[in-house]
Amino acid sequence: MRRSSQRDHRIVVITGASSGIGRAAAQELARHGTALVLTGRRHAALDELARACEAVGAHCEVVVGDVADVDHVKEITRRALDRFGRIDVWVNNAGVLMFGRLDQCPPESYRRVIEVNLLGTMHGAHNALDVFRRQGRGVLVNVSSLLGAFASRYASAYVASKHGVEGLAEALRQETIDLPDVHVCNILPAGVDTPVVEHAANYLGRSVTPAGYPLVGADDVAAAIVKCIERPQPTLVVGRVGRLQQVVQKVAPRAQDWLIARSTGAALRRADEIPTTDGNLFRPLGEATSVAGGWKAGRRGRRRRAAAVVAGGAAVVVTARRARRRREGA
Ligand code: NDP
Repeated sequence: MRRSSQRDHRIVVITGASSGIGRAAAQELARHGTALVLTGRRHAALDELARACEAVGAHCEVVVGDVADVDHVKEITRRALDRFGRIDVWVNNAGVLMFGRLDQCPPESYRRVIEVNLLGTMHGAHNALDVFRRQGRGVLVNVSSLLGAFASRYASAYVASKHGVEGLAEALRQETIDLPDVHVCNILPAGVDTPVVEHAANYLGRSVTPAGYPLVGADDVAAAIVKCIERPQPTLVVGRVGRLQQVVQKVAPRAQDWLIARSTGAALRRADEIPTTDGNLFRPLGEATSVAGGWKAGRRGRRRRAAAVVAGGAAVVVTARRARRRREGA
């Protein structure tokens, strides 16, 4: 991105800016003087973020509400256009996470995951693309997930919502094929160190921690968002482990399913018992408004875990090739 001495005059909407990746993206864009429309449900957190962004030269509009509510998303659009006259970039980032075996999750909870993650993204796209079509330009960035490309046990509603976001983006790229200056970009982060696990609904009755997984920083995802704004591309995977998993998914999808199912099952058996919780599905949780979740360990630990995952990935590929050779030889 250009240095902060050169002011950036883009108008950027960010949903889910009150913590984690959205907050990191707002802070990064603010350093370049971008005009920001910051949204989410936690008013105080958004006001505090807006003051911090304005202190480094950004102009901010705060719009409080729920992305699952189509009227709120219309209101974001109206306020952005009233204040700044146009929208250059819309970042669909707001999202919720839910852990649980599907048959043990309340239907209203898995419905809510789809409403926030998929319909919230769809409402954002509906409004943004209407504005972009009239302007003849604009960039839609969806913060999807690597779990939009493959799956993980005990996160079925989340996985379904993110697969939906992937399909939606494919369709929208076709719908905007006549608009060369309108772009639809999906960012697929692997595990990111944010408060998302603290916010998650959990019907497993066991604690879930991302401690054994090599996490990337929310700042890395913010940098990927900036990269997509500067040089739009359909898909951007964030994190080396994520890129490796994407390759494994292509060459040995069954082996990857098996590996994820086995490792999540084993982690759960070792986990502490906790009461079930709706997390922040239906109402925001006040505490964690930070960018980081505090899970990321020191560099050495990260390297060791990354090496373990690389070795695991290589083992999967070798096993899959051997199995294929055996089948072909049979
Ligand atoms: P956080 O929980 O820190 O951030 C989620 C943001 O979404 C918060 O600002 C929250 O604000 C907002 N939000 C949640 N529900 C709603 C709602 N109904 N209406 C409006 N805003 C809402 O987690 P992350 O930063 O990690 O998550 C951001 C995105 O990144 C999500 O889409 C997530 O799926 C995706 N992602 C995260 C990964 C990770 O490992 N952390 C990996 C891959 C993707 P508020 O509570 O104030 O409404």
